[in-house]
Amino acid sequence: GNFVIAIDGFSSCGKSTVAKALAKKLNFVFVDSGAMYRAVTLYFQRNNVSLSDDIAIQTAIENIHIDLVPLVDKTQVLLNGEDVSDAIRTMEVSEYVSEVSAIKAVRHAMVKQQQALGAKRNIVMDGRDIGTTVFPNADLKVFMTASPQVRAERRFAELTAKGEVITMEEVKENLSHRDHIDSTREESPLRQADDAVVLDNSELNQEEQLAFVVDLVNK
Ligand code: C5P
Repeated sequence: GNFVIAIDGFSSCGKSTVAKALAKKLNFVFVDSGAMYRAVTLYFQRNNVSLSDDIAIQTAIENIHIDLVPLVDKTQVLLNGEDVSDAIRTMEVSEYVSEVSAIKAVRHAMVKQQQALGAKRNIVMDGRDIGTTVFPNADLKVFMTASPQVRAERRFAELTAKGEVITMEEVKENLSHRDHIDSTREESPLRQADDAVVLDNSELNQEEQLAFVVDLVNK
C-alpha cells in the first residue's frame, strides 16, 4: 500500500516547511491542506458569500475547483484555473480563513478531496485535522509545536518580506484568533492525535527538524 504522513499543529509552527522538506527527501507528494482552505476563503471573499447563507455556501462549494500543482521549488495553487498562490497568503485571507474553515459543508468537501489525493500515493500532508479526521490511519503522525514568540516572529518575517505592512501585535492577534477558532470549532477541531509524535521546533533548526522526522519514518 501507500505511505501516509500527517503533520498537524497550530498556526505558524513550521509545519509546511518540514512537510515540504520531508516529501522532497522521500520523493513523496506534498499537500498543503491549509492552502485549500485559503483558496476557498479567497473565493468566498471575492464573491461575497455570506457565512450565514447555506445555499450560497453550497453553490460556492460546487463552483470551486482547486488544483495543487507541484513545481520544482513550490506548489502552485490554482483556483478554477487561476494561479492564486500569492493571493491566498495575504493578511486579508488569514483574517477570515478560520471562520470559513469552521463551516461543516466546507470541511466535508475539502476532507473528501484530501482523502482522494492520498488514496493511492505516498503523501505528506500538513494541516490541523489530518491525523485525526482526514487520515486517522496514517502511517506516521507528527504534531508540531513552537513557542508563541517563535511562531509570531516567523510569520511576521514572512509577511513583511512580501511587503505586507503589519505589526507584531497584529500577527500575534491573528495567530491566537485562528488557534482559538480552529481548536474550538464543532467539526474536526484541531487536536493532537493520541498516536502522534510531538515535535517542538522552538529550539531546532530546519535540518534538525528534518532529521527528527526522517528518523521516525525509518523506525
Ligand atoms: O496551514 P495554514 O495556516 O495556511 O491554514 C490556514 C487556515 O486553514 C487555518 O488557520 C485553519 O483555519 C484552516 N485549516 C483547517 N484544517 C486544515 C488546514 C487548515 O481548518 N487541515
